[in-house]
Amino acid sequence: MNLSPELRLQAIIDGTRAGTWEWNIKTGEVIFNERWATMLGFTLEEIQPLSIETWNRLCHPDDLKHSYTLISQHLDNQIPFYECLCRVRRKDGSWCWIQDRGMLVRRPDGTPTDWMMGTHIDVSVEQESRQHLAHLAASVPGILFSFEMVSPVALRFTYVSERSYNYFGLDCKAIEANACVFFDAIHPLDSAAVQAAAQSCYTSLSEGACQFRMCVDGSEQWFRAVARPIRDPLDKLVWHGMLTNIDDQKQLENKLAYLSITDELTGLFNRRYLTQALNDAMALYQRYQTPFSLISFDIDHFKQINDSHGHLVGDRVLTKISELMKHRLRVTDIVGRMGGEEFLVLLPDTLEEEAVQVAENLRQAVNQSEFLTEDNTPFLVSVSGGVLEMAEAIISVEDLLRRSDRLLYEAKEDGRNRVLDEQTSSKKRGLLASFP
Ligand code: GH3
Ligand code: MG
Ligand code: MG
Repeated sequence: MNLSPELRLQAIIDGTRAGTWEWNIKTGEVIFNERWATMLGFTLEEIQPLSIETWNRLCHPDDLKHSYTLISQHLDNQIPFYECLCRVRRKDGSWCWIQDRGMLVRRPDGTPTDWMMGTHIDVSVEQESRQHLAHLAASVPGILFSFEMVSPVALRFTYVSERSYNYFGLDCKAIEANACVFFDAIHPLDSAAVQAAAQSCYTSLSEGACQFRMCVDGSEQWFRAVARPIRDPLDKLVWHGMLTNIDDQKQLENKLAYLSITDELTGLFNRRYLTQALNDAMALYQRYQTPFSLISFDIDHFKQINDSHGHLVGDRVLTKISELMKHRLRVTDIVGRMGGEEFLVLLPDTLEEEAVQVAENLRQAVNQSEFLTEDNTPFLVSVSGGVLEMAEAIISVEDLLRRSDRLLYEAKEDGRNRVLDEQTSSKKRGLLASFP
């Protein structure tokens, strides 16, 4: 090559559009190139005489302080290069973001000179778009994130907005450094669902969403993540998305779900839930012949209780009977209020004989309990019940309920405060029929 080293170096500097600086640490003498001045809207002529004071005057005081700290570290051999992002005042008064890089000049034998030299590159555009993203991320009601799949089971967050700290006390940089920081905070019961959603995102290459709980400051909170894949200019598939806190919405959903299946007065299941449970039990029976039994209870002369002691006392009777039943049944049994003063007990995996025993125990428990009027006078309450085991001949839930109701009213006709099952009823009818 017949070009001189000076010419080659000059061409490279001009081509990179870098401002250059040369600084004598001892004397404070400074040399800037023309580009250094034009980058800030000056000509070199305008800012003569040049010295380190020119830099001290134009650089933002906060950044200047930071810059000198880093320079000291470099001169003390703690860091091999000096590098600092600085704001520098332009001629028009605005700030220019400058990437400042340099190092101490050493002789070929390694001995230091009094000079540090380096470049200043205008990075205002990049810095401003980074600031825009940060402002945007700070104002959206959630956490913005980008992730890539390192493998079908491993994710890496390439970006997490700073709000992650306010949201779940996790530092965004820590999550970016190690995705486990985030995944380990997911509720163990939800981590499989999150993995499945990520997998499905990976295979379908389409937008994915999932809901999960995270442990935040010792309590659980619900979150929803939505992410969409985009192929970036480096041909990598990156998912960009947002995480929002849906805890309030989830609490409301749970409350509505609870209310939709609960009887308000007694806290037992309501007719809607019982009907669904009966349908499910019936489906199991028809598919696998899994047995179940049913008890229908009705309070005896309840109208009279209301009429004599008032509606409020009537309500207390309903509540007390509900409590009695709840505490005497197995956790797998389902007890609910069908309406008025009628209760239903569904006993899974239970044959009629055993169900009669349960019904009889409940009837006795009610009848042996003391109920109180408004002025605390005790009175007794009884219930009647119909007991039925599921059988082939029963074709629908309506049919099942009709049959148990019939047994219940037969028990009423027989004198109340008793339970009657299908077998006893058939025997009785058979006996009656055999009478001349
Ligand atoms: P039987 O022994 O034949 O079952 O007689 P009964 O009086 O219990 O039956 P009836 O159907 O004549 O009366 C039921 C009463 O239950 C009438 C109704 O006012 C009352 N009732 C229904 N729901 C409630 C409730 O939520 N609270 C109160 N206190 N009473 C209710
Ligand atoms: Mg009644
Ligand atoms: Mg009734």
